[in-house]
Amino acid sequence: MINVEQILARVDLAELVERHGVQLAKSGKELVGLCPFHSERSPSFNVVPAKGFVHCFGCGAHYDAIGFVMAMDDVDFITACHQLGGHDMGAAAKRAVQSAPRRLDRPRDELWIPICPVPDDAPRWIPGVKGTVWNLKRGRWWEGLAPTRADAYRDPDGALLGYVLRVDMPDGKITPAVTWCIGPRGEARWCLQPFPDPRPLFGLDALAAKPDAPVLMVEGEKCATVGAGALPMYAVTTWMGGSHGVKHADFSPLEGRDVVLWPDALDGVGAMLGYIDGSGLLHEGVAQLAYAAGVRSLRVIDTNGMPKGWDIADAVADGWTAKQIALWAKSRVKAVEMAETRRVMA
Ligand SMILES: [Zn+2]
Repeated sequence: MINVEQILARVDLAELVERHGVQLAKSGKELVGLCPFHSERSPSFNVVPAKGFVHCFGCGAHYDAIGFVMAMDDVDFITACHQLGGHDMGAAAKRAVQSAPRRLDRPRDELWIPICPVPDDAPRWIPGVKGTVWNLKRGRWWEGLAPTRADAYRDPDGALLGYVLRVDMPDGKITPAVTWCIGPRGEARWCLQPFPDPRPLFGLDALAAKPDAPVLMVEGEKCATVGAGALPMYAVTTWMGGSHGVKHADFSPLEGRDVVLWPDALDGVGAMLGYIDGSGLLHEGVAQLAYAAGVRSLRVIDTNGMPKGWDIADAVADGWTAKQIALWAKSRVKAVEMAETRRVMA
């Protein structure tokens, strides 16, 4: 029988931490690296194999191997044990019930409710300026978060609803949504908490301000911002969360509008037009949901032949003028193929 003590005794803690993307350097009997639980430039994350725990002197994160896996992989106790090779899940489950929580931080199941619009006295996020956000899942503050983008979602009147931030991490970028939430004791703060469904489109204020303009739907806030600058004849919009976010978005503001879709080349076509998977199941894209919302017309810009992932921001970065972009788009625009939208249209 394998029990939790055996899992912990057997695990190579340093190897486990490094496998989760934390580079470690020797420092006496311990190992140090950049903390994966908060943003930092000099290492304060210590791994102490002899004692079987990790500890961050910066943010106070403190876990054994199981807790570390739970926090890093966002999995429950049983899954973490399983990942660490604990085969007797029955015994592990029993221990999980009996033992105190291994996570030494505040419990994760507190209820925080997003408040929209954001009150005027809440601090605003500004690119390059450090802010603090409450990490609900991990039950801790994320201090010194300096986003490289802070894209504000607004209601039709321009009132702030929340942000999608872009944060450059050592192992790549993340684009978390932050909402202003009220906690269980009435305290209010920015939280790493998705917008409630259905989620607002980006640029609702532009859609409202240009009620007769054609709508250009691009993928991602950067493209929407760049596109709005380059093509002022359009109301430019997008949805949050990329391909996985399509089904969460509220496309009802597109009702009665003439909509043009600009998918990222190759990568973004499925999100825009939907796709049918190997088992014949239709995964609805923006096109299907826009039709369901009652658009007046729907067209798509054919981005075939452009480099993978190429988008309007790339066109601008490549030096295309607004006129060139408009002419190119005009030469490429066509009616949306209806084959994949028949379920909605039927
Ligand atoms: Zn830390």
